[in-house]
Amino acid sequence: MKIIILGSGTSTGVPVIGCKCPVCKSTDKKDQRTRASIAVIPEGSLPIVIDTAPEFRLQVLDAGITRVENVLYTHLHADHTHGFDDLRAFTFFSKKPIKLWIKPDYIEDFKQRFNYAFVNTGYRGAKPKVIIEQIPEHNFYIGGQEVEPIVLEHGHIMTTGFRFGDFAYVTDFKGFPDKILQRWRGSVRVLVASGIHFGAHESHSTVPETVELMEKLGVEKGYISHLAHDVDYKRDTPRLPDHIKFAFDGMMIDV
Ligand SMILES: [Zn+2]
Ligand SMILES: [Zn+2]
Ligand SMILES: [Zn+2]
Repeated sequence: MKIIILGSGTSTGVPVIGCKCPVCKSTDKKDQRTRASIAVIPEGSLPIVIDTAPEFRLQVLDAGITRVENVLYTHLHADHTHGFDDLRAFTFFSKKPIKLWIKPDYIEDFKQRFNYAFVNTGYRGAKPKVIIEQIPEHNFYIGGQEVEPIVLEHGHIMTTGFRFGDFAYVTDFKGFPDKILQRWRGSVRVLVASGIHFGAHESHSTVPETVELMEKLGVEKGYISHLAHDVDYKRDTPRLPDHIKFAFDGMMIDV
């Protein structure tokens, strides 16, 4: 399985508009972060995309992804959904609708946000051709790939994390239930998880909290994503244990 970090930034992206801090002015590509999204590519299968960030079109062009038939949504915050319209291009060529996997209680909200794709407005231009599928509470399959969904707290809302065999992706969460920790300990070898920055945050796991989670899970490799402009890739990498790294846009991970 191959993982591509399509976007490694927090909701503002980095650089932040108008900010003159050293990270926002950095010329290091690893400090330039589009909004959080990843592609999971099981051996011999099409990429499964998780979230459609506002820069989705640029991200998939950079990654060379030309076919997508399944998108999993973690939650509906703007930084994870607003590239939705870019899914249109995939169906121009494949002629196949794209399955959008959404937590059942977020489906109405999703349809309202992207109303033009779901109701007949009389508009004759191209809309994204999509089918909404409910993320079940139990494990499910996308093609031959088993997916385990888990629900995590993210401030006053919930977000869904996903495990694919010995790889898992969890983003935009605060706290990690003990029950899942026990279940995943030792079986998740590689984890990509959000970490935002080093300081405290109300609705996001911070870099130190995510490092602690990765150590408790005993992962072989951990990658911290959804990073803000407080994190300087070069300056702050030595603050991480050897087996944990900051994710960056375009990063490829073999699992
Ligand atoms: Zn986010
Ligand atoms: Zn800045
Ligand atoms: Zn969020």
